[in-house]
Amino acid sequence: MKADFDVAVVGSGFSGSLLAMIAKRLGRSVVLIERGSHPRFAIGESSTPLANLLLEEIATDYGLPRLRPLCEWGSWQRAYPDVACGLKRGFTFYHHEFDRPWGRRLDRANELLVAASPHDEVADTHWYRPEFDEFLVREAQSLGVEYLDETELAGISKSPLGLRLEGARGAKRVDIQARFTVDATGPRGFLHRAFGLPESPFSNLPPVEGLFTHFVDVHRWDGLMPCARAGAPYPPDDAAVHHVFPGGWIWVLGVGKGITSAGVAAVAGRFDLEDGTGWLKLLERLPAVREQFAHARATMPFIHAANLPFRSGVVVGPNWALMPSAAGFVDPLLSTGFPLTLLGIQRLAEVLKHLDAPEPHLKGHETQTLREVNRAAELIAALYRNMDRPRIFNALTLLYFAAASFTESARRLGKPDLAGRTFLLGDHPRFAPAFELCLDLAFQRADPTALVKAVLTAIEPIDVAGLSDLSRLNSYGVFASDLRGAAHKLNASVEEVDAMLARCGFVAKPEAVP
Ligand SMILES: Cc1cc2nc3c(=O)[nH]c(=O)nc-3n(C[C@H](O)[C@H](O)[C@H](O)COP(=O)(O)OP(=O)(O)OC[C@H]3O[C@@H](n4cnc5c(N)ncnc54)[C@H](O)[C@@H]3O)c2cc1C
Repeated sequence: MKADFDVAVVGSGFSGSLLAMIAKRLGRSVVLIERGSHPRFAIGESSTPLANLLLEEIATDYGLPRLRPLCEWGSWQRAYPDVACGLKRGFTFYHHEFDRPWGRRLDRANELLVAASPHDEVADTHWYRPEFDEFLVREAQSLGVEYLDETELAGISKSPLGLRLEGARGAKRVDIQARFTVDATGPRGFLHRAFGLPESPFSNLPPVEGLFTHFVDVHRWDGLMPCARAGAPYPPDDAAVHHVFPGGWIWVLGVGKGITSAGVAAVAGRFDLEDGTGWLKLLERLPAVREQFAHARATMPFIHAANLPFRSGVVVGPNWALMPSAAGFVDPLLSTGFPLTLLGIQRLAEVLKHLDAPEPHLKGHETQTLREVNRAAELIAALYRNMDRPRIFNALTLLYFAAASFTESARRLGKPDLAGRTFLLGDHPRFAPAFELCLDLAFQRADPTALVKAVLTAIEPIDVAGLSDLSRLNSYGVFASDLRGAAHKLNASVEEVDAMLARCGFVAKPEAVP
């Protein structure tokens, strides 16, 4: 194949396919190049309210209405029952001590449940990536994107048009010229290697390794620990479940079809995590988690990622850009990967609108991509530093939840400027410096009382979700009364908040839920 395109996107994960669709909607000719073929396994499943809102904005802004049902659990079930996903009502955390059973404490200090949605219909999802990513590729093809799977790119060079990509698809030669190329192949991906881009490690993060796979027959935590249901704002397993222990944490996500995605991220070398034996050895030290996996079977071999965090020193060039997911990755903790990538897709859409003079947009993409991944890295580094201190860990997560819920509310109210342009309110005049102060205290492993106070002070101007209310004992539901009471923080009237809640389906219509 020899052809010229306006845009070449390398990598057909969800981000590559989404950008290819947008490019097509902008009137560009587009080729989407994939090394493998769909359906295929991909890690990274847990969406968030902000991720879903960004997907919704993309669907609206670029005339992609078939994506809209994927933004909420209920509409997804009705529109695409053949594309599997799991139900995510919030973030569930349990803190563990080695070699001791887990038990609920009176003050609930060893748990944290933060609801992200008021009911199932509008809940978030865990994407079953083999089917989700395949669906998006087919959508891209149906819009006219040229899709080349099983294509191995061997070389890249400058060309009169922009860049020239050469390789092979089976026995056939592939020779493509594109005005603009986007690398959506993930960390240490295609352009990073082809251009020999420098890696720029995060300064505060410890080296972290990961070990993960898909399982069947994982027990529900709330089945093993019925006490965990009492006072919970949602069934604790219908969420991203985190088991936190000194030096690392385990995720447990239902992704549909009876499949559970689970794995561990931990300070490299602290545990023997090279393969499935390492997983079993770790569970030996965590008796309650071991019980949850007592009858579990892995459906595929474990994948060991020796070095999870990654940041590229360069993100853009004259005719190319890295997707945020190719430019940097911090950790699965707090599910920052999807929102950072979707924010980047919105920026790259601006680049594609201005292909005749992309420079300012490209520079903006690089600056924002690095700022945002750095911000996520700082918070996650502070969490790693305090994984053995549940009270501090829980308090620090409130920085994330407060910033994320404020951002979502501001955008849903049509006031995105209130949240600024940077992930986790990085431009907010009061929150941003207070956030930094909290992280400094966390790195110093400051006295818990002082640190919790600093966090409550930091989130006060942006808390629209009742997160400052200590009487809730680490169990935060989604209540209209919290948003109404915080309307002034969003420069909104109570009537505006009520109208927004009505638009977003805040009040459950049980008959709508399948
Ligand atoms: C252990 C782990 C857990 C995670 N959990 C979460 C989570 O719960 N929530 C969250 O928000 N984020 C999570 N992330 C991050 C998330 O995985 C990424 O943000 C997301 O997968 C990025 O999607 P993508 O489409 O950009 O890339 P990918 O899904 O990585 O897809 C890249 C595609 O490029 C193809 N490719 C690779 N090299 C080439 C090449 N040379 N030529 C052509 N094609 C190529 C691959 O085959 C693949 O299809 C996690 C990451 C890890 C490592």
